[in-house]
Amino acid sequence: MNYSVAIVGGDGIGPEVMAPAQDVLDAVGDKYGHVFNYVELEAGGRAIDSGGEPLPAETLEAAGRCDALLLGAVGGPKWDGLPGHLRPERALLGLRAGIGVFANLRPAALLPQLRAACPLKDEALVAGSDDGRPGFDLLIVRELTGGIYFGERGRSADGYSAWDTETYSVAEIERVLRTGYDAAAARRKKLCVVDKANVLESSRLWRETARAVAKDYPDIETSYLYVDNAAMQLIRAPGRFDVIVTSNLFGDILSDEASVLTGSIGMLASASLGSPSDPLAKNGRPMGMYEPIHGSAPDIAGQDIANPLASVLSAAMMLRYSFALEKEAAAVEAAVNAVLDQGFRTRDIAGFGGAGTGGRIVGTRAMGEAVLKAVEEG
Ligand code: NAD
Repeated sequence: MNYSVAIVGGDGIGPEVMAPAQDVLDAVGDKYGHVFNYVELEAGGRAIDSGGEPLPAETLEAAGRCDALLLGAVGGPKWDGLPGHLRPERALLGLRAGIGVFANLRPAALLPQLRAACPLKDEALVAGSDDGRPGFDLLIVRELTGGIYFGERGRSADGYSAWDTETYSVAEIERVLRTGYDAAAARRKKLCVVDKANVLESSRLWRETARAVAKDYPDIETSYLYVDNAAMQLIRAPGRFDVIVTSNLFGDILSDEASVLTGSIGMLASASLGSPSDPLAKNGRPMGMYEPIHGSAPDIAGQDIANPLASVLSAAMMLRYSFALEKEAAAVEAAVNAVLDQGFRTRDIAGFGGAGTGGRIVGTRAMGEAVLKAVEEG
């Protein structure tokens, strides 16, 4: 089958980590009989340099015509002095809103090969795990286009007070919950709703809505936690979690906390999904935007040392969620596992606080080539 994929390499390490992801996709295509047609698009700093705006209209239009969008990262010090509406990061918000992706899926799992890159003790890693072995494998589903980041904000005339407003509608809560339940159904069938319903009215609406939606998913075990407790439990026993569904603000914070537990931000992929009934949905599947959770890492850009695995794993998420190619997605994930087994390490996953994870330190390109080979031979 043929698939069209919008590619936004972006700035800094974005294009460097995107290249291995495309190579791996091509290898998957050759092996399983698919063709991925790439549509290279400009956004972020590069687009500002060439046309004066972070998200050219043609980029948004072309992305919407594609079956899915794969993004590297945007931004960098060169553009930091620009006014907010002209900064590269506006391209991210514009793309997400423009293609209607409201649920951000951020998986965080501890790979055994990277145990020494995780700052937690064995006791914490065993505490919540199903099989008594140290580890965790969780998915944070963060609401992406509502809540306090999009609510009314302002400052008083005297400048001595300011406000941001957390607003959610039942429809916004319900659609992200359903995305979470669909994900949980394909995983360990546990879903935890994280809110602050003991204090916030908007959280009480989250919880009421969740209790109603939960009735539609009797096979999934639903639980509820206040966000302060959830933040604690993530560190005390991350293995107890399967899928966490939460608001924009809480998801932003909890997913950064979870990323540290995996060893490196260079390992974390993400998928942002819309609704299967949106106009941009393709073949009944939601429009999706896939990107590593890290930024453009200007401090290491152009040095061939960035970890490309988050980008490669984002491509695997695209295969799974946008194209329903589960076997192919699993093959990419297995290839990443295989190269870690073989001892390939980029610098960021070589160990936490000096504790080595073994293996040999390689650059971005060599890591990409190793994954490619593992896909071909897997
Ligand atoms: P960052 O994620 O780019 O970097 C944080 C740290 O992690 C840096 O030390 C960096 O070297 C390291 N790092 C990040 N990705 C890595 C990888 N793949 N391999 C190894 N190390 C990696 O965050 P930042 O420094 O706060 O932001 C830099 C720029 O990126 C800013 O302009 C910011 O606005 C932008 N940004 C973009 C996105 C996005 O495009 N989705 C997300 C976050 C930040």
